[in-house]
Amino acid sequence: MLPDGLLVTCADAALTFGRGAQAVVAVHGADLALAAGDRLAVVGPSGSGKSSLLHLLAGLERPTSGTVRRAAGLGPYDIGLVFQGDSLIPALNVAENAALPLVLADRPEDDARQAALAALARVDAADLADRLPEEISGGQAQRVAVARLLTQSPRLMLADEPTGRLDHATGARVLDALLMAADHTGAALVVTTHDPAVAARLTTRRTMRGGRLLAPEEVS
Ligand code: ADP
Ligand code: MG
Repeated sequence: MLPDGLLVTCADAALTFGRGAQAVVAVHGADLALAAGDRLAVVGPSGSGKSSLLHLLAGLERPTSGTVRRAAGLGPYDIGLVFQGDSLIPALNVAENAALPLVLADRPEDDARQAALAALARVDAADLADRLPEEISGGQAQRVAVARLLTQSPRLMLADEPTGRLDHATGARVLDALLMAADHTGAALVVTTHDPAVAARLTTRRTMRGGRLLAPEEVS
């Protein structure tokens, strides 16, 4: 059991890809605890382990050593992840992609579509509703993936460089939408970024360097 209020904890959690001479340590013994309402930016250069850390938090990867524990009541639908790369389903249009979490949760199709359109509007993507993923740009796809997270409304929101392919103003809008959703639901929100302006908008910041999640006092 996790202490009250905590959603997920990492204790000395490490993630290694490959074995022997080919082994890459993506995350070295990370310690982290996330509670409802937390807003954390994970900053660090490319290759520093940010995505790997999010995948550990999401349960997409199991730690090679150490532990990652989630609250007993936190089921798969309570965890939402915006992948860094493309993650839209090519055969579904934008509205159907954004509605997917609710369709999978057996919500009526009309409700799911309405919720998806509302979420798309919050990231200025409502006009894309009927397009296929191949008919939109990378930055637009990124916003649709954020809308899908908003539709899901999970208790643990993990967004991997959600503004990475957006101009400054659009990125700020997407961040507004994520922060407002977290305010509204009380979810914990983790955003990875290498943009200091994005990181500054979250309540706390942790730096990754060479796979190490630095303690706050280690950052120089
Ligand atoms: P970031 O998100 O900060 O760019 P990543 O977590 O993607 O960092 O990667 C951390 C390290 O782990 C990098 O050296 C990367 O090449 C390696 N890595 C990530 N995913 C894999 C994988 N599936 N197989 C092998 N190495 C990987
Ligand atoms: Mg990454």
